[in-house]
Amino acid sequence: MKRISIAIDGPAAAGKSTIAKLVAKNLNYTYIDTGAMYRCVAFYAIKKKVNFEDEEGISKLLKEIDIQMLPDGTIHLNQEDVTSFIRENEVSMGASVVSKYQSVRDFLVAKQRQMAQGGGVILDGRDIGTVVLKDAELKIYQIASIECRAMRRHKENIERGIVSDLEAIKEEIAMRDEQDMNRQISPLKKADDAVEIDTSDMTLDQVVARVMNLVSQRV
Ligand code: C5P
Repeated sequence: MKRISIAIDGPAAAGKSTIAKLVAKNLNYTYIDTGAMYRCVAFYAIKKKVNFEDEEGISKLLKEIDIQMLPDGTIHLNQEDVTSFIRENEVSMGASVVSKYQSVRDFLVAKQRQMAQGGGVILDGRDIGTVVLKDAELKIYQIASIECRAMRRHKENIERGIVSDLEAIKEEIAMRDEQDMNRQISPLKKADDAVEIDTSDMTLDQVVARVMNLVSQRV
């Protein structure tokens, strides 16, 4: 069977990575979490005490950054496992700031394209269908209401034993979406040829089945 490239874009906390991981497993494809790469840049900036708004300072850090995404799903930044650290709130907000810089995007998009070479990949992010993999055989734009997204994240936090404030989550998600949709370079938007899936009233299994059905139409 032909091994295609799949792009999943959409707003924050829409469940893109959950779906992408399950679909990747079903198809035996490689999953590439591009958001994690922006998160690594923000995490490194915090470590090096460079302000997120300092574009020049952030750009200078890029040559010191080596990101490895291992097959077991862990993310390593300069040989250090940062998988859990990059999920912190400060890093999420920082990723949304540093991702507006051309230098950061150029650096990471080049890496993403290199990783996606040859197909059999599923990438999730904000600009996959519009910029990174413009020729992807399947493009999905995954959305859900903000209430639904915040509630899912809230439940996830509680299950993981993390202190969670529903209103704060809602605010953080809304702020990131606003920044990601309104930046000048590669803003979040639905590609013309993307299939929109609103997962608000769908179960996980239903979303996966829908994506698998779309895949089967394209392979
Ligand atoms: O997907 P995730 O929420 O982990 O992404 C963190 C941030 O990284 C997003 O809010 C966005 O600003 C940025 N991002 C991006 N382009 C991508 C993936 C993520 O700008 N392809």
